[in-house]
Amino acid sequence: MLDTLGNLKRTHYCGALRATDAEQDVILTGWVHRRRDLGQLIFIDLRDRAGIAQIVFNKEQHAEAHAKAEELRAEFVVAVEGRVVRRQKANPEIASGEVEVIATRLHVLNTAKTPPFQVEDEVTASEETRLRYRYLDLRRPRPHRNIELRHKIFFEIRKTLDELGFFEIETPMLTRSTPEGARDYLVPSRVHHGQFYALPQSPQIFKQILMIAGMDRYFQIVKCFRDEDLRADRQPEFTQLDLEMSFPRQQDIFEVIERVMERACGVIGVAAKGPFRHLDYKEALRRYGSDKPDLRFGMELHNVTPLFEPARATLHFEGNVQAVVAPGAAAWSRKQLDELAEFAKSAGARGVYTVKVTPEGVTSPLEKNLGADALKKMAEAVGAKPGDLIVAAAAKEQIPHSDTSLGVAGQMRLHLGDKLNLIDRGKWEFVWITGFALFEWSETDKRWASAQHPFTGVFEEDLDKLETAPWECRSKGYDLVLNGVELGSGSIRIHRQDVQARIFKALGLSDETARQRFGFFLDALTYGTPPHGGIALGLDRVVTLLAGEKSIREVIAFPKTTTAVDLMAESPSEVDPAQLDELGIQIREKK
Ligand code: ASP
Repeated sequence: MLDTLGNLKRTHYCGALRATDAEQDVILTGWVHRRRDLGQLIFIDLRDRAGIAQIVFNKEQHAEAHAKAEELRAEFVVAVEGRVVRRQKANPEIASGEVEVIATRLHVLNTAKTPPFQVEDEVTASEETRLRYRYLDLRRPRPHRNIELRHKIFFEIRKTLDELGFFEIETPMLTRSTPEGARDYLVPSRVHHGQFYALPQSPQIFKQILMIAGMDRYFQIVKCFRDEDLRADRQPEFTQLDLEMSFPRQQDIFEVIERVMERACGVIGVAAKGPFRHLDYKEALRRYGSDKPDLRFGMELHNVTPLFEPARATLHFEGNVQAVVAPGAAAWSRKQLDELAEFAKSAGARGVYTVKVTPEGVTSPLEKNLGADALKKMAEAVGAKPGDLIVAAAAKEQIPHSDTSLGVAGQMRLHLGDKLNLIDRGKWEFVWITGFALFEWSETDKRWASAQHPFTGVFEEDLDKLETAPWECRSKGYDLVLNGVELGSGSIRIHRQDVQARIFKALGLSDETARQRFGFFLDALTYGTPPHGGIALGLDRVVTLLAGEKSIREVIAFPKTTTAVDLMAESPSEVDPAQLDELGIQIREKK
């Protein structure tokens, strides 16, 4: 027979009991974490949101409670009445370890089936099992802590933006397509036969319209939906801090985000401090081989193409050659070098070359192609010291106006930085990336596409090149990067209707298509649109970094797998034929 909660009122969280609570009568509630039965004495670790408290049932003193405690199993739900006493020997492992509770009464509120895995941080169950039983998984301390941290960060962001005069305004979930470059999730309309809503890829158009509406400063912590191929740091639905301001200079937006990130970092006691540094996109690529450089370590790239030029024919390489200096790696074994070459090839390198710098001189298989002098020159040029290994990679141009060798070397840099333990995990290196091109070439569509989205502003001086040399148009966009992770991007927007119409044209949209897809927005732009700009940050990534986790799934209460499945709710799922009928939808056989 189960007991009822009745009029019992919890007095303390289990995990919150401290030595100062000794000699107090308490009522605790929670889950049976562990039970140890020593006959006369039964010990229960009782767990709640705050942690664990040890409860003691003494057969001699409280026979009835002790008898009931004999029936307890893992994850039973109970309420305990008792008295806090100091332990003879404190347990430093748990926060309440200086005290324990001598139980006078036990109320068993619910039973539990044997869980498929133990509710502990050291869990051996697969991620699949954990996600299927997410409610049990979330009882573990670490996921618990991550969700709490997420709440605290979100709360701090809201407070900060409220103080800065921003309004949180909701925008529709059932809407029409926003071009952020992914596929839409569509929702069929029952009322309007044959018509669909799209779930927002972002609130982009709505937030711009809020500026036209005179709201001046908008933000929203908002779900966005993008149907794209998933990776470890992507979810089909994810949470953004979305923000827009009227009459801003770029610097004003940066300052707002710097305040927000300072306060978010403050939640875990990290003292981030704006202004964050700025890096031009091209410079980031040239020096770090990435538009999201990890600045926690150096190891900058060196363009050594001229030094390799004489051997272009004998080495059979195409494109440019970039080198990095791996400190102390001259001693690497054959096997380590082979692995490195393997990695570089998988990153797209066509040729990988190594040069060892030792106190005796410079040695390399390249010597027969380049000669000893050239190798010495190279070591000097890249600043390699005895003990260092120079690693160079050549890669062929893949896309017009882009240097593939930089990206390849950038990946090698990260790989080596990790292998050589050069990345200081205690550092928080924020950087603003600016100076992006407005368009990038889309190989699939064989045309110029928006590098970001089509509402991104363009430098006025470049407007004349829109039609003639689109690749030279500079965008007013920017990215925020933290420790090599892109946290988000934004821009000063186009606020003139004529310019927006020209951009759509440059993107290959006919007047008709542009009107059909964005007519309402083009119209809105004609009614007195203020200059405006904004940004969106991926909050799942922010929390992941601050929580020190690797996967964003660890900081989302109910994440989906990399195949976009919710294993617990078992969605997506088939639906009732009657529902489809009502929507006028028929499922075709898969081809
Ligand atoms: N809408 C953009 C995005 O979701 C961000 C922005 O431009 O504000 O990436």
